[in-house]
Amino acid sequence: MARCEVCGNDYDMSFEVHAQGQVHVFDSFECAMHRMAPNCEHCGCRIVGHGVEADGHWYCCAHCAREEGATAIVDRVETRV
Ligand SMILES: [Zn+2]
Ligand SMILES: [Zn+2]
Repeated sequence: MARCEVCGNDYDMSFEVHAQGQVHVFDSFECAMHRMAPNCEHCGCRIVGHGVEADGHWYCCAHCAREEGATAIVDRVETRV
């Protein structure tokens, strides 16, 4: 059986995640998120959802992006200008 690359657990229900040409093996989503999810560069929380990217930086939400000076970012796509 494959061994989780985060915690080393040898688990028969482990699964693979294919990302950017690499294959990662995890025993749980907890470990997968620990390895794969980026951290918000403003508040440091784990970005599990879509997140917000601004100039190559990652944030959990538009609020954090704005706090770091990315003024053009909004949470939702709206036609209102
Ligand atoms: Zn694990
Ligand atoms: Zn944040």
